[in-house]
Amino acid sequence: MKPRLFITRELFDDVIARLSQYFDIEIWDRYYEPPYKVLLEKVRGVDALVSLLTDRVDCNLLSNAPRLRIVAQYAVGFDNVDVECATKLGIYVTNTPGVLTEATAELTWALILAVARRIVESDVFVRWGEWYRTMTAWHPKMMLGTELKGKVLGIIGLGRIGKRVAEIGAKGFGMRVIYYDIRRDTQFEEEVGTTYKGLEDVLREADVVSIHVPLTKDTYHMIGERELKMMKPTAILINTARGAVVDTEALVKALREGWIAGAGLDVFEGEPIPPNHPLTAFKNVVLVPHIGSATYEARHAMAEAVADNLVAFYEGRVPPNLVNPDVVKVRPPGFK
Ligand code: NAP
Repeated sequence: MKPRLFITRELFDDVIARLSQYFDIEIWDRYYEPPYKVLLEKVRGVDALVSLLTDRVDCNLLSNAPRLRIVAQYAVGFDNVDVECATKLGIYVTNTPGVLTEATAELTWALILAVARRIVESDVFVRWGEWYRTMTAWHPKMMLGTELKGKVLGIIGLGRIGKRVAEIGAKGFGMRVIYYDIRRDTQFEEEVGTTYKGLEDVLREADVVSIHVPLTKDTYHMIGERELKMMKPTAILINTARGAVVDTEALVKALREGWIAGAGLDVFEGEPIPPNHPLTAFKNVVLVPHIGSATYEARHAMAEAVADNLVAFYEGRVPPNLVNPDVVKVRPPGFK
């Protein structure tokens, strides 16, 4: 008998076909995420789970799944999974690093440019007839923005995505790149010409601050009132990591009181945010609905990575993207 796999959202047909050679699959085929109660019920009888970042895979859920051996997350971030609990229970947790780096870095740049050059505001200006109503085709002071060349790009979290954003900033836009991370990477500093700084110095010196740390207990509200006050009033904040890395209330205050010049946000505390959310009131803020990895290329490659992890586990191998290596000491890989 094949092991049973529950997948919490529709993936790509070719990947499902590949997985069905190994697993007996059930897919939650609604657009919205399975409610927690449904998830609890579904995991009870399965051997493997494919989860999304919106699925709460907490200790209660894991403890209620006696047959569950692997949670294959369809994302690089896994802050929705209680990894410590999974490890104790001998449940393997995998993610999909690398294959979404390019997509997320490109989206980061789309946001930087959109805020710096007021793209969304300009689109609305044209689309809603304001430009036409001014009867002015061109004005020396119409929609002035900020140039990036020679400015300082501050990266918080120089991992895969942070590095790619830094590289595009340095090589593509001629920006001076500074970064903060818990670990210094001198090789990258030499290759790309970046400088390591403390978090406070990055915030004080950067014209564009871009966040790329994972959400952990250490990075929760890492950027709050104190940090936002350190930024230049002309600086832009970009967050394509996780919403809760930034204290939203403090960010709204910073924008309202002009501590910073604007923001570009792909991620939020409490997604999806309502249309009357305070952040929607600012013209100098560009908001997108958590689409960092939303390219055909990345999303398909993520599904393939999920399948690679599951198939490796099925074959009794350690999955290539295991996030809790200590689990191997608790239980060997495989469904036997
Ligand atoms: P990564 O390669 O693990 O990079 C994260 C970096 O942050 C690492 O260098 C890490 O250092 C560092 N870090 C961890 N905790 C830190 C702390 N407290 N202070 C400073 N630096 C810290 O991950 P990635 O692939 O670049 O992805 C980064 C994050 O982006 C993911 O965790 C995910 O939440 C988010 N993301 C969002 C989207 C989206 O759709 N918007 C798409 C992809 C990813 P160590 O390696 O030493 O831990």
